[in-house]
Amino acid sequence: MNALTDLNVPERILLGPGPSMVSSRVLRAMAHPLVGHLDPKFIELMKEVQEGLRYVFQTQNQMTLPVSGTGSAGMESTVANLLEPGDTIMIGVNGYFGERLCDMASRYGATVNRLDKPWGDVFTPEEIDAALKKKPAKVVAVIHAETSTGALTSLEGMAEVVHKHGALFLVDCVTSLGGIPLKIDEWDIDIAYSGTQKCLSCPPGLSPVTIGARAREAFHQRKTKVANWYLDMTMLEHYWGDERTYHHTAPISMNYALREALRLVMEEGLEARYQRHRENSQMLWDGLEDLGLRLIVPIERRLPSLTTVAIPDGVNDMEIRKRLLEDFNIEIAGGLGAFKGKAWRIGLMGYSSRKENVVLLLSALERLLKK
Ligand SMILES: *Cc1c(COP(=O)(O)O)cnc(C)c1O
Repeated sequence: MNALTDLNVPERILLGPGPSMVSSRVLRAMAHPLVGHLDPKFIELMKEVQEGLRYVFQTQNQMTLPVSGTGSAGMESTVANLLEPGDTIMIGVNGYFGERLCDMASRYGATVNRLDKPWGDVFTPEEIDAALKKKPAKVVAVIHAETSTGALTSLEGMAEVVHKHGALFLVDCVTSLGGIPLKIDEWDIDIAYSGTQKCLSCPPGLSPVTIGARAREAFHQRKTKVANWYLDMTMLEHYWGDERTYHHTAPISMNYALREALRLVMEEGLEARYQRHRENSQMLWDGLEDLGLRLIVPIERRLPSLTTVAIPDGVNDMEIRKRLLEDFNIEIAGGLGAFKGKAWRIGLMGYSSRKENVVLLLSALERLLKK
């Protein structure tokens, strides 16, 4: 075998659905020497990461921790811990990630009640209320920011309805945390998960999860063991709680990165960060419409972190994306599922959400579409 060459990775402008671009400060944090995962220095860092996560989630939940693994690991941890065989979960499906949640829940033996809506549409508290009246559930789950469609489901007033029916409220915040207002305590969300590589602008590898009192109580009321050892929160809470007893080896460098990414969020401030995401998206939306392109999701429910654009007739999806990558170093994504071949997905998340990136993408697209 030939010797490997030096690793040579281009510095892409990442404007897809994630990973987003990462500040050099976060990359430098990852290069720090390793300490043991029970080293006092690391234990101090765990505490800081948890405090930072409580800040971005806007919660006082003691059980707020980064699950080892990407967003899907956090997602799986929530269903694995909440559901026992025979339990019922109602899942709002209005895109690809709702589908994934259904698949995961069914693998843990739960009865899955799907509440289906067309891709790009969103759910209202009234619809959840009506569905629960017909069929009760132990857990109700919605996707806050559907990355496959670019639609934002408003969470205000939703927990009230879910709790009225005695259910727990589970929310996917993968593409909202750190980029779009999200108030876990004020909105009374029982359990939520996210990922590091979207609006937090940290490499993929950790999945922030926050668990409120009702969900914790449900974990302790289980009659059966959690079917997934690695994601069993009753064990993880001893590692991330006060005891710090060994469960698995935390990914040390990833936690360094997350600490730095959270520090950047705190320095900027949540409100300023939300506003930056809104302003840069508005600039993108105006520019795309000036190019004659149609935005798929109406403005009232359009996500600031991810925009879906209809691919005009006669335009070659793959060719445009290839030219963007090869000639301009820019990554955007194609559509998933119902939007395959019909939409481009443009992410402006975290460190990627900058005016210069918007201008560059718009001018590159203008050139390519003229041809
Ligand atoms: C990206 C994403 C996930 C999955 O996260 P991974 O890090 O890819 O495992 C889940 N839900 C939503 C809404 C996402 O955008």
